[in-house]
Amino acid sequence: MQTKFIFVTGGVMSGLGKGVVSASISKLLQLSDQKVSCVKIDPYLNFDAGTMNPIAHGEVFVTEDGGECDMDIGSYERYLNRDIPKSHNITTAQIYSSVIDAERKGKYLGACVQIIPHITDEIKNRIRAIANDEKLDVLIVECGGTVGDIESLPFLEALRQIKVEDGSENVIFVHVTLAPSLDVVGEQKTKPTQHSVQELRRIGIQPDLLCVRCTTPLLDKTRQKISMFTNVTTDDVFSCHDAKSIFMIPQMLYEQGLVDVIFKKFARVGYVNTSKNWDSWNTIVNSLQKTGNPIKIAMVGKYVTLVDSYVSVNEALKHASASIGRSVKIDWIDSETFNGNLNKLDNFDGVLVPGGFGTRGSEGIIDTATYTLEKNIPYLGICFGFQLAAIAFGRKMCSLENANSTEIIADTKNPIIDLLPEQKNETDMGGSLRLGANEIKINQKSLAHKIYNSDKISKRHRHRYEFNTKYRDEFLKKGMIFSGESDDGKRMEILEVPTHKFFLGVQFHPEFNSRPGFPEDVFKTFVTAAAQN
Ligand code: GLN
Repeated sequence: MQTKFIFVTGGVMSGLGKGVVSASISKLLQLSDQKVSCVKIDPYLNFDAGTMNPIAHGEVFVTEDGGECDMDIGSYERYLNRDIPKSHNITTAQIYSSVIDAERKGKYLGACVQIIPHITDEIKNRIRAIANDEKLDVLIVECGGTVGDIESLPFLEALRQIKVEDGSENVIFVHVTLAPSLDVVGEQKTKPTQHSVQELRRIGIQPDLLCVRCTTPLLDKTRQKISMFTNVTTDDVFSCHDAKSIFMIPQMLYEQGLVDVIFKKFARVGYVNTSKNWDSWNTIVNSLQKTGNPIKIAMVGKYVTLVDSYVSVNEALKHASASIGRSVKIDWIDSETFNGNLNKLDNFDGVLVPGGFGTRGSEGIIDTATYTLEKNIPYLGICFGFQLAAIAFGRKMCSLENANSTEIIADTKNPIIDLLPEQKNETDMGGSLRLGANEIKINQKSLAHKIYNSDKISKRHRHRYEFNTKYRDEFLKKGMIFSGESDDGKRMEILEVPTHKFFLGVQFHPEFNSRPGFPEDVFKTFVTAAAQN
């Protein structure tokens, strides 16, 4: 059967939650026993998200196959509970590189190479290849940016062409807009939606469905007004009002009849709406709503100004806490603000240091690790947090003065953390870290073995530096164990201090494997230790 497409575009302004709408639609269809997946188009000129600042763009999400992707890919994985390959994050740079490459190879046989049809063909080919290769019933494609942006025009044009070529029974356009309430009476305004649909129609796209963001449920009269001005029937205008959890949006859309509307438009009969699927999903969603005395976690790092910089870590903590029947309260501490005053960490049940890069803030993080080591406060270090924990241990327990990472001080006397050997001659910044899933061997007599209950795991990575094995024996003598290793013992992947309540560092990123209802094991053990602290 031919794959159906749902194209999600954004209007009015960014940050309305197109990613959540796309993921929610895909979840609804998955719950209706459809084989679905999602694609994110990012019209920017970066080849991938790897070189972008997480404070401006949110976290870089790493896929199993080593893609450095937009954070929406992480949302899709969490909603659908399935791995999404890196080919599902399409950028302008990827499209243009392929076309320019093909032109240099003479593949266009003398043609003048143009945005239409060459760029648009490349976009369509990629989308169709994913649909065919993965034999999907429905593919949801979210186009980043806001309608009216210059950058997204070729993508919207390609999506428009797919609808013409595949027929309207195979393609649905969903437009996400905003109905703000400005005055005290709280009247929902429709003008921004009217204008953004006009903009979309100007480039030849008539949306089939509207998902309207609003603070309170969309009023009937607002819905009618929007319908009249946008040429979308009232049944096809959906309210996406504020919810307690983003995972409640599938249910919200379902209750308004979204699944029926989609299947009717696709003229697809015989879909199954299994209550079994809904029951297990609702159990998961409800488990995430725990209130009451929360587990208090301090997250110490430097990208603390935007919650989205570490969205997967936040999510993983929530999934883990929910699985032990608790809620979690995460407080962000900028590691540059301690000024030697580390006792504020005493107010927390556990401390987590997530991944990071560069010199700024690193001393504050090393002090944090030392403090939790001394005070027996549960500590989980991820990637940079693993590396700086090793440095803290080296300085404190092995008396290695000026121990550091060569990322922080290039000619440090004791380079506890050093460049991966294969990185020594690397000059490119983009896509050149050690990326994606790699196998890790777990030593039997360790906390890590108890956590994973296995001799082998596979986890996602994103780093350029690693523990310098020259120091390994010295660390072992002082009571640290390296309970996870990869590449025949060449790389240290997990460190722990068995005499401590919970002091564990992982060179990999466990947060990318955590999903609602299926918490990642390290997170689960960490929050359990914190809950008992
Ligand atoms: N900056 C460190 C490295 O490159 C850690 C990276 C990270 O935390 N993702 O190895």
